[in-house]
Amino acid sequence: MSSPRVRFAPSPTGFLHVGGARTALFNWLYARRTGGTMVLRIEDTDRERSTDAHTQVILDGMTWLGLTWDEGPFFQGENAERHGADAEQLLASGAAYRDYTTPEELTAARERVTRTGATFRYRRAEMELPADEQARREEAGRPHAIRFAIPDEEIAWEDAVHGTISWQGRDLDDFIILRSDGSAIYNLAVVSDDIAMEITHVIRGDDHISNTPKQVALYRALGHTPPVFAHVPMILGTDGKKLSKRHGATAVGDYQDLGILPAAMRNFLALLGWSPGNDDEVLPEAEMIARFTLEAIHAKPAVFDTTKLEWMNGQYLSMLAADELLPPVERELLRMGVTAPGRDIRPLIDAVKARSRTIGQVAEQVAVRLDGTRVVRDDKGVALERKMGERFGSSIALAHAALSGVADADWNAPRIEIVLRDVAEQAALKLGDLMQPVRVALTGGTVSEPVPELLAVVGRESSLARLGLHAGH
Ligand code: GLU
Repeated sequence: MSSPRVRFAPSPTGFLHVGGARTALFNWLYARRTGGTMVLRIEDTDRERSTDAHTQVILDGMTWLGLTWDEGPFFQGENAERHGADAEQLLASGAAYRDYTTPEELTAARERVTRTGATFRYRRAEMELPADEQARREEAGRPHAIRFAIPDEEIAWEDAVHGTISWQGRDLDDFIILRSDGSAIYNLAVVSDDIAMEITHVIRGDDHISNTPKQVALYRALGHTPPVFAHVPMILGTDGKKLSKRHGATAVGDYQDLGILPAAMRNFLALLGWSPGNDDEVLPEAEMIARFTLEAIHAKPAVFDTTKLEWMNGQYLSMLAADELLPPVERELLRMGVTAPGRDIRPLIDAVKARSRTIGQVAEQVAVRLDGTRVVRDDKGVALERKMGERFGSSIALAHAALSGVADADWNAPRIEIVLRDVAEQAALKLGDLMQPVRVALTGGTVSEPVPELLAVVGRESSLARLGLHAGH
């Protein structure tokens, strides 16, 4: 069997939303897993709502997530001629017909049927005009749509996610495939393109399940075997409702701005409707690819939990080297107006990354370490000073005096630790009663990397200045 060909086929009518990104990711994972080909097709046939700007945002989002495509981007609008030719073929074989009914006639027919309590289905036989009237309209070259005559038979497919899905042709309309202006409707355009691009697996959201029987029927009528369909579950918010703006950010770009790492976002998205078969959650790229199968995609809806995304981001922050975190942290620092010319901030990133969940939090902590004027006493810092009373200032004074004796060349965490331990011992202080006030003086808060490391990354001059502000108070 030749290798799989999958496609991601977004409509450029909005941003790249998490649902679309997840669909793109599953296609990408499948292509990479099977050595297949990932095609990117921009479905820009809705001319009023499609924009180049949206197309660019979609491409940027995929690039940010590392979802590389092998062919394209192709633009569906450029295939209009082939769509028309396929419609002609369906007309020629009798699988489709020209529909000359006017909107008024259609409304009247619909009302006639619904008045009896039945459901209206567009059927050739029921809508047929008297033969002479049909001929008259044809001759007059009246504008008309082309409809597909849905066969009265079972239309079923073996969905890779849901198992057998079966529809009856009689429950479907004779649907329009070509509008009166000659442009193709989604179902025809998609099938025509998927055939031409030799797509073997269609992996997309399960909101498309009701389109699939129509597409399967089109494949058959065009003389082609339908591809494998895999309909991935929809994404809900933690309240069980369909994910929407109400739940917060839904565009991939927003998460980039919020300081989420692409690798963490990708890992998080992969677990929306898929799992590797056990409880493993942190799955770096190679492992995710190696373990991905369509069969393991869940049929039931997935839940988008922002807390979990932040947790995942924290996992990747701890895992990634400072080198990899440097560009997004620098970008964030720039945004905050913090510059450190000539300073290597990688040791600072290493010092704080394990206690961060977002790039923003990394940048905040780096900024505080770079610039003493950014130290703001938080509630816990205030509470500690209140609790320790005079001992707060005297501890800092002791540390300040002892550390002043450490030369710049010796200013490193192991050396600093020895000095502070000695001070604590001599003054008969619990180590924590010495370290915590120092931590508060340096950062404003009570949580950080170990204090000797903190003093080392802040540097001698700035550390002593920060301690000096409190010593003796
Ligand atoms: N343009 C369609 C969408 O964005 C593609 C659906 C499909 O994958 O067939 O929903």
